[in-house]
Amino acid sequence: MMRPAVFLDRDGVINRSPPPGEYVRNWSEFEFFPSIFDWVRLFHSLDLPIIVVTNQRGIALGRTMQAAVDDIHRRMTGEFARRGCPITDVFVCPHMENSCDCRKPKPGMVLVAQRKWDLDLSRSLMIGDSDRDRDLALVCGMRFLRAADGTLSDEPLPDRIGEA
Ligand SMILES: [Mg+2]
Ligand SMILES: [Zn+2]
Repeated sequence: MMRPAVFLDRDGVINRSPPPGEYVRNWSEFEFFPSIFDWVRLFHSLDLPIIVVTNQRGIALGRTMQAAVDDIHRRMTGEFARRGCPITDVFVCPHMENSCDCRKPKPGMVLVAQRKWDLDLSRSLMIGDSDRDRDLALVCGMRFLRAADGTLSDEPLPDRIGEA
């Protein structure tokens, strides 16, 4: 039976965003928001799959490396698991703008996760800090909460992308 899930953006939701135009290049630059562990613990207690979907164009730009991103995600998921609130899956778009079907707000990563984990997107939640995340939620028919500095706010979705 299809299940609802929680989708999390990474930078600005799980960890503090790097400055505009910069990328988290290694684990020493990765700073968790303390509140994320409470959020994920709540979702995990409800048996909701918890799926990270992150744009990392810095890989295509040569500003960071796939191996470094993989290492960050190994350590990041390890930290969640150690705290008893494991992340179900992590999807990364390493591509440039307009060169793939997965760079948010394009739905590629969510659709792959939907098939892999048999998810009901209409009952799923996206948490993100950017309009790309909001537009992704809209395209996929998911609910959306806006994260900012480790807090959450509700935000009505527009009827169409580009309206808000
Ligand atoms: Mg973000
Ligand atoms: Zn992509």
